[in-house]
Amino acid sequence: MERIIKITLHEIGHNYGLDHFTDKNCLMTDAAERISTVDNTKNHLCSKCYNSIE
Ligand SMILES: [Zn+2]
Ligand SMILES: [Zn+2]
Repeated sequence: MERIIKITLHEIGHNYGLDHFTDKNCLMTDAAERISTVDNTKNHLCSKCYNSIE
C-alpha cells in the first residue's frame, strides 16, 4: 500500500514537470518506478523538487 502511494506521488511529480533525480532520499529518484527498489525510497520530495513545484 505504501509503495503505491510513493509511485503515485512520483507520477504526480512528473505531472508538475519534475524530472528524475539521483538522490536516493528524494521521491523523484528513478528507482521509485521499480517495485523492487521503491521500498528504499523516501515518501517525500526533497526541498529541491518541492521548490520546483511551487
Ligand atoms: Zn519517473
Ligand atoms: Zn528531489
